[in-house]
Amino acid sequence: MEEVLHDFPWLMRALHTALTGRETVCEGGERNERMRALVLPVFGNEGQCLGACARLSASEPVKPASAQHETLEQELTRTQQQYEELVNTLDGIVWEADVGFRFTFVSKQAERLLGHPPQQWLQEPDFWRNHVHPEDREWAQAYCMKATRERRPYEFEYRMLATDGRSVWLRALVTVLAEKGRPLRLRGIMVDVTEQRQARETLEQVASMLRATFDSITDGVLVVDRNQRITAFNKRFLQIWDIPDELLQGEVDPQKVLAAAVAQLKNPELVRARVYALYAAPEQEDVDTVELLNGRILERTSLPQRLGNTIIGRIWSFRDVTEERRAKAEQERLLAAEQTAREQLEESFALLDTFLNNAPIGMGFLNRDLRFIRTNDALALLHGRTREEEVGRTLREMTPYAAATIEPLMRRVIETGEPVIGLDLELEVPATPGKLRYFRVSYYPVRTKSGRIVGLGAVVVELTAERRAQAERERLLREAHEAIQIRDDFLSIASHELKTPLTPLKLHLRMLEQRCTSDQPIPPHLVRKSLAQVDRLSGVISDMLDSSQIEAGRLELEHEPLSLQQLLRETLADFRPNCLHHPLEYEECAEELVVLGDRARLAQVLTNLLENALKYSPQKGPIRVTLTRSGADALVSVSDSGIGIPADQHEHLFERFFRARNAPISGFGGMGLGLYICRHIVERHGGHIWAESETGHGATFRFTLPVRT
Ligand code: ADP
Repeated sequence: MEEVLHDFPWLMRALHTALTGRETVCEGGERNERMRALVLPVFGNEGQCLGACARLSASEPVKPASAQHETLEQELTRTQQQYEELVNTLDGIVWEADVGFRFTFVSKQAERLLGHPPQQWLQEPDFWRNHVHPEDREWAQAYCMKATRERRPYEFEYRMLATDGRSVWLRALVTVLAEKGRPLRLRGIMVDVTEQRQARETLEQVASMLRATFDSITDGVLVVDRNQRITAFNKRFLQIWDIPDELLQGEVDPQKVLAAAVAQLKNPELVRARVYALYAAPEQEDVDTVELLNGRILERTSLPQRLGNTIIGRIWSFRDVTEERRAKAEQERLLAAEQTAREQLEESFALLDTFLNNAPIGMGFLNRDLRFIRTNDALALLHGRTREEEVGRTLREMTPYAAATIEPLMRRVIETGEPVIGLDLELEVPATPGKLRYFRVSYYPVRTKSGRIVGLGAVVVELTAERRAQAERERLLREAHEAIQIRDDFLSIASHELKTPLTPLKLHLRMLEQRCTSDQPIPPHLVRKSLAQVDRLSGVISDMLDSSQIEAGRLELEHEPLSLQQLLRETLADFRPNCLHHPLEYEECAEELVVLGDRARLAQVLTNLLENALKYSPQKGPIRVTLTRSGADALVSVSDSGIGIPADQHEHLFERFFRARNAPISGFGGMGLGLYICRHIVERHGGHIWAESETGHGATFRFTLPVRT
C-alpha cells in the first residue's frame, strides 16, 4: 500500500481508518485532478477485519464562492445517494438501533433477505425479538444485552424467521456507539450465512461419519503427511499395534506411538528401509507383510494420499492376517494330506480294479435292490454285456433265465447275513442262450463298519469245461471198460469159436489116422466132416480178419457192375447144400437189377444173413429170400421163422461182438461179427441194412443197394 499509494497520503489515511473498522469519506489530490473516495472496512465470516475497500471518483473542480454553496449541496446529495446505493447493494442488512433493540434504520436488503419491509422493522415494537427463531431468542437477547452493557463490539450467529416461514441463519456484527461511557446506539450488519451454515453442518456430518467409519474399519490405518508427520490414525491401528494405554492418555504423542509400533517389529531395519523407499517414491502403491516379534503377521498396504491431483501424504493400513495365514497353511497342509490320501486310495483302487477286472472268475457287487454296482469283465461277459452296461441294472435284467434260481439265494444272503459258499448250479446264461453251463457260485454279504448289510458280493466260477472234461474222462473210462470187456468177451468167444471145430476135427483126424494104420478104407463122409470143421475155423478167422481190417479202415472193395439176380442165384446155389433141413425160397423181380459192387463181399453179406437165418431157426423153418426194387434201390430181404430178436436189442444188432440176449450160448456159437461186417460192406456200397423182428416170431433182415442207371 505504501509503495503504490505514496502519492495519495489522504487515501492512505482513510484506508488505515477503515482497517480499524470504521468507514470514511475523503477527498484529496491536485486542484484540477481532485478525487473523492468512500472507504469501507471489509469483514470476514468470523467478524474479523480482513481489509478495506475504497471507491474513487473524480471530484468537481473548486467553484467560486457564490456558486460554491449550491455545488456543495449538490455534492452532498450525490454523496448521500451513492452512500445509500452502496448500503443497499451490500450483501447484508445494514442497520442501526437504539439500545432497546428498536431499529432506527435498515437497509433495503432487509426485505430481500427476510421478506419484512423496512417500515415493519422500524415501526413494529420489539420487531427483532419477535422474529428471532424461538430456539435462539433467549440466549441471543441475553448475549446482546450483555455485550451492549459492556460496550464492546460483538458478533454472533443466530436464526430469524422469514415471512415465508424459513429459518434464515444470520451473522450479526454489532458495534456499540457510546457517549460518555454510556451505550447510546447500536449499529451493525447482518449477513445471510444459511448456506455456509448448512455446508458446515453437512461437512461436520461427513467428517463425523468418516471418523466413525475410520474407527470402525477392521484395518488399522495411519495417515502421514509429506513431512512424515502423523496426521491421523484410527483405534484399530492402536489395537493392532498393541499400543500401551499410557501412550493414549490425554494428548496422544504420535511419535511415541510410532516408536512403540517399531519396537515390535521382527525386522525393523528391513521395514524401515522399505518405508523410506516408499517415502522417496510418493506416487507408489505397495503391499507387503510385516512380521512382529510376537509372531503375528500384518498385511501392510501403503497408498499415496491425494487432494485433487496433489499428493499430500501417505496412508498406511495394517491388517492382522496371522489367523488367516495359519488357517491357510493348515488348509494347504490338509489339502496336501487329502491329495496324498486320495492318490493312495486311487492306487489301491486301481490295483483292486486290475485284479477284479482281470480275474478269470466272475465277480460283482449288488446293492440291496439287487442292482449291479460293479462287475468285472468275466461276469459281464457271461451276461453278454460290457462292465459299463451292467452298472445300475438289476440281476433280472442281466440274467432273465437264471434270476428265478439266483434271486431267492441272494435275498436270503441280504436278509440273514449268512453267505452262500460254493453252490453248484446248472444255468443258462444270456451270452449262450439255450446252452446249459455249470457254475460254482458264492454270495457274501457286504457290510458297513456299523454292520449294516448294504448289498452282496458275488463270485461265479464256471465249471463247464471241468465238467465236460470229467464227462469225457468218464466216457473214456467207460469205453476202456467196454473195450476190456469186449476184449475179454472176444477172447473167450474167439477161443470158444476156434476151439469148437477143433475137437470134432481132431476126432475125425484120429479116426482117419487109425483107419490109415489099420489099412481100412477111409469113408468120404469123415473127410467131408473134417473139411466142414476146417471151413468153420477159416470162417471164424476170416471174420476176425475182416473186423480188424474194418477197424483199421483197410477193408478193400472192388467195384464192378454186377447183376443182383445172378449174384443171388449163385450164392443161394452155393448155400443150398448147407440148408438141407430148411426149405429155402427165393423170389426175384423181373427187372434186372445191376449194381456197382464187390461180388465176393456182397455174396458174403447174403451168406451171413442166410447162415443166421439157419442158425436161429428151428429145423424145417422156412427161409425166404426176395429181391425187389424200391425206388432207386434194389431191396434184398432174408426172412426166417426163428427165435426173433427182442425189440430193445435192434439198435445194437450191427455193433461189433453183439449177440442178442436170446441167442443160444452153446450150439451154433457165433462171434457177433457177421452183422457188423455186413453193415460195413452194405454202407460202403451206398446202401442201408436193418432188421425187423419180434421175439419168437422170426426175423427179416433187409438191405438196399443203389441200382445202377
Ligand atoms: P453171430 O456169429 O453171433 O451170429 P452175427 O453178427 O451174425 O453174429 O449176429 C449177431 C447176433 O444177432 C446173433 O448173435 C443173434 O443173437 C442175432 N441174430 C442174427 N441173426 C438172427 C436171426 N436170423 N434170428 C435171430 N437172431 C439173430
